[in-house]
Order: sequence, then structure tokens, then C-alpha cells
Amino acid sequence: MAEIREAAEAMEPALALLRAGEIVAIPTETVYGLAGDATNGAAVAKIFEAKGRPRFNPLIAHVATMAMAEEIAEFDPLSRTLAEKFWPGPLTLVLPLKAGSAIHPLVTAGLDTIALRMPRGFGARLIERLGRPLAAPSANSSGRISPTTAEAVADDLGDRIQLVVDGGATPVGLESTIVKVEDGRLRLLRPGGIAAGELEAAAGAALVRGAKNGVEAPGMLASHYAPGAMVRLDATEVEAGEALLAFGPRRARNAGAAVAMRNLSEAGDMREAASNLFSHLQALDRSGAKMIVVEPIPHDGLGEAINDRLARAAAPRDSGASYK
Ligand code: AMP
Ligand code: MG
Repeated sequence: MAEIREAAEAMEPALALLRAGEIVAIPTETVYGLAGDATNGAAVAKIFEAKGRPRFNPLIAHVATMAMAEEIAEFDPLSRTLAEKFWPGPLTLVLPLKAGSAIHPLVTAGLDTIALRMPRGFGARLIERLGRPLAAPSANSSGRISPTTAEAVADDLGDRIQLVVDGGATPVGLESTIVKVEDGRLRLLRPGGIAAGELEAAAGAALVRGAKNGVEAPGMLASHYAPGAMVRLDATEVEAGEALLAFGPRRARNAGAAVAMRNLSEAGDMREAASNLFSHLQALDRSGAKMIVVEPIPHDGLGEAINDRLARAAAPRDSGASYK
């Protein structure tokens, strides 16, 4: 059962857990977050596992300083203005991910953009001390509402995490507002703790509402990472010229014919597989193979989200909406 600790005395235990690759529930000004080191794939996989999320949607990375933000993302002038005005605070900016950033690909779900926010209070001090960004979705199991008290977190996730840091009731009580600058215009991706009017005043222009290619709540992602190659699932045999995404200790027939191979987890460990999913797909895509074949992957635990992502990658591409 998770221990609930007052924020005033939780800094050292929270740091120790995060440094060990564990996850911790922390207060932020919006809602309680389930935080893990955003540069550690195994830690990020534990977030999805504890929430029981059936899919890998991208997470918000939290930073403590502008310097930390600039190591991760490219800022255009309008995004910089908004960061200066609203950070720290309940505003999330979606920005181009900087090449070579330390952010683990499971945080962005393989996308080349990153959602960034600078929180206030305990979270900010924790990130500063850790010296690394924290990935942190709301600290509730999938499908439940976002928790605004430590007790609500413990009731829901108490048997899956070790520590809930108690900072009292969260002041905003709503998720962060998510915006993205596109062609110099500001698009509202998710309404939240900062009102649209405040953003419009700061930007000096009206917000564009809704995602580019249809609506997709709640972050209204316009697109998901999909490999350039075709994808064939549940493969028991490899044909010459194909790339192989393997799982576990036993290989599909004719695996030697693959032009490239990556194993999600030799030992069949689902956390390891989740943390390798996007980087391995990207590596196999770079091999130039026209087809990536995927060995069967169990559906239990994180397997549900892994299989969901792979099913989207394998869906026909011409129907547009089908693999969102
Ligand atoms: P949560 O962490 O549960 O507050 O949700 C984060 C939200 O941010 C989700 O709705 C995501 O769809 C959205 N999000 C995260 N990263 C991106 C991104 N790179 N582009 C667009 N939306 C994003
Ligand atoms: Mg949530």
C-alpha cells in the first residue's frame, strides 16, 4: 500500500524513488500527477502500467527551468512569449522535439513533437533537485477522473505505487490548457486551467480551435507516429527482405532472412518491451525494408497498449482516420 507523506518531508524519499526508476504521485497546481523520469523508458512504462492505459498516448514532460525546456524543445517566438508569461503555471506547449534530446520515445509515443509544462510548487522543486524532466499524466487509473487530493490518489492507485506526496488539495483542480503554434497561429488542443481569453490576450490573436484533421479528445492529437514501412502482425514466418520486430526468446521461422531485427524483450518482459517499442520501430523503419513483421505479443498488462499501437501501425493507410 502506498505511503502518503506530507510534501514538507517527502522530497528525499521521492527523489530516491525517481532515481531508482520508480514512479511517485505528486501534487501540482492542476491535479495530482503520476511522475517518472522522462529519460528512463522503464520508468515511463511503469506509468502506463500503473494507470492501466489501454494505449500509448503521449505524456506531458514537466521541467523546472527554461534552460531545461530549451534542451528538450525548439521554441518559436510566440511559444517563448507564452512560456515567459504563463510558466510556471497550468499551460502546456506542444513544441518540436530537439534532435538528440534525452526524452525517452515512449514519452512522445514516437512523435517528433513534445508537450512541455513548467509546474509550480513541490513538482518544480523535485524536478530541479532531480535535474531531469518528469513525465506525469494525471495520477488516476485509466477512465477515472483526475485526482485533486492525495487520498483520492491512494484510494485508486495505492496498491500499485509506493509513495503519494501530499500537498493538500490542488489549487487549480483542472488539467493544463494545451496549445500549439502552427504557422504562427495558436491552436487550442485542450481547454484547461488557463482560459482561452487570457491566451488570446497574450498572443494578440484569436485561438484556432480543434485539431487539424478532425477531433480527437482530449489532447486532440492530429496524427500519431506510423512507420513508413507496412506492418504485418502475429508473424510466424519471415520472408526475404522483411524487417523483424521480435518478442521473447523464440524466433519466427526463417528469421535469418530478415534484413534487420530488433527484439522488444528477449526475456519476454512487458515493461522492457513497452520502453523499446517506438525506438525499435523507428530503427527497423530506417533499415529501408518495405515490410516490418511483428512476432505475436501477449495481450496482458502493457501488452494491450503495445498491441493497440502495432494494430494502428498495421491498419490500411489510405483510409486516413483509421489508424489514429
Ligand atoms: P495527460 O498527461 O493525461 O494530462 O494528457 C496529456 C495530453 O497531452 C493528452 O491528451 C495528449 O494527447 C496531449 N499531448 C501530449 N503530447 C502531445 C503532442 N506531442 N502533440 C499533441 N498533443 C499531445
Ligand atoms: Mg488524465
